[in-house]
Parts: sequence; structure tokens; C-alpha cells
Amino acid sequence: MLVRAIGPTGLRTAHTGALAYANDAPKIPAAAIAAEDADRLQRMVDRGDRVVVRLAMEAHFEPDAPSANVVGEIRGRERPEEIVVVSGHLDSWDVGAGATDDGGGCVVTWEALRIMKKLNLRPRRTVRVVLWTNEENGGRGGLAYRDQHRGELGSHVMMMESDGGVFRPLGFGFTGSDQAREKVKGIATLLSGIGADQVSPGGGGADITPATQEGRIPAMSLEVDGSKYFLIHHTPADTIDKIDPIEMAKCAAAVAVMAYVVADLPERLQ
Ligand SMILES: [Zn+2]
Repeated sequence: MLVRAIGPTGLRTAHTGALAYANDAPKIPAAAIAAEDADRLQRMVDRGDRVVVRLAMEAHFEPDAPSANVVGEIRGRERPEEIVVVSGHLDSWDVGAGATDDGGGCVVTWEALRIMKKLNLRPRRTVRVVLWTNEENGGRGGLAYRDQHRGELGSHVMMMESDGGVFRPLGFGFTGSDQAREKVKGIATLLSGIGADQVSPGGGGADITPATQEGRIPAMSLEVDGSKYFLIHHTPADTIDKIDPIEMAKCAAAVAVMAYVVADLPERLQ
């Protein structure tokens, strides 16, 4: 099976991604090809050419190996047992550097905590940054967090993931009660100066979903201008030069403001 790149055409970059086989199905080899090459094959087929593809692949599965999420936090000054999580994932596809998926998400979430520390701000509740492992080929960092923190999921006030790139921030996606949504919308108005004040339906992320679903925890995602995301995501073009430091700094500011205010609300978000 040859899979056409899911991004727009333009860089002739093949688009890597996960593939899962059903236990009772044959393991048919699958490879990604660039949109330009897929289009060419299509043209050949359309004009009746006999298409022959020679495919040399080295891809294979290695046995599982130990890995870990990276976790740090600023303990809350009044209710340290109540937790706000901000997060991104550490792993990526090795065709590129994973700068935007999801190195940038890791940087803007740990920057959020660094900004609070630098400004000497300690919110009422704990703000925890989690850099997830194994998002791309199994999600086991998110599953392990859910299992290991099962006893304190009820104390999680909100979980956020940044996994859509760190381009110009537009605001946040939010999943939770109507009451909490209104509160979050109010907080987002603080970010109108950088144009990051939208709150759209459907927040979350692959890594936080196991915990937010089981603990019924309000879930958020950082929403950005994603028009360039799929041009580079999961391809050899996902390198640091594609990241604009100003846009990234605005993403960090947006995450910092939202996380800080939610963690510092007099009454818990619910
Ligand atoms: Zn990702």
C-alpha cells in the first residue's frame, strides 16, 4: 500500500505516520509517498500506462524499551493538591527533527512555567508541566500517566496539550461544562492583545485524553494558525528553521496566562 502524503503539495515530502494491523489480517507492507509522486502515478494510470513500483524498505518494529514522561511543577501556594497540567509530547517521527510536532509544544508549555517562576508568580494551585513520551506510536505516556495518577485525577482542575504546532496563536479549544467554558472565555479576553482570545469547542489532545476521559477533567488545546502545519508535520521538513520565534513566544504567553489564571481562580474551574 502506498499512502499519498496528507499535507499540501509543494515540498515533495513523504508524510510518515502510524499504521496498525488487525491481529487476524496479513501484515501488508505500507509506505508513504509524496503528493507529487502520487499525482504522477495517478496520471500514468489515467493514460493507461502499466505502472511498476520497485519498493525497498528497511522499516521494522523493535521490541518495546523503557521510556518516561518528564514532569515538573510549581507547587500551589494554597491548594497544592489541586493540579493544572500543561503539556506537549517529546517523541516524533525521525525523518525530521520534530520541531513543530511536537518540540514546539514542549517548549511553550515549559516556558509557561518558567515565565511564572521568573515573575515570581505562584498560583493558588499547582501547575504541572508534562512532556509525554510515545505519543506517535502508541500513546503509552498518556496511558501511564492516567494509571499512575489514578488516585489524584479527581484533583486535576484542567489539562491542556499543545500539539498543533506553535504558529500564530488564535486561542484555545475547550471541552468541559458550559459554566467552565464561560469562565475560560473570560480568561481568554486577557489575550486579545496578541489575538489569542478565541475559545472554540473541542479541546484536548492524544496524550491527555486517557486522563481527561477517565477523570472527567476539563480539557484544553492551544489553537494556532494551522495553515502551514501539515506542510511540514511528520516530514523531513519539520525542522527548527520553520519556527518563528515571535509566534512561538506568543504561544508561550497564551499558555502561561491561561494556566496561571485557571490555577489561581478563587473557586475551582468546574
Ligand atoms: Zn504530535
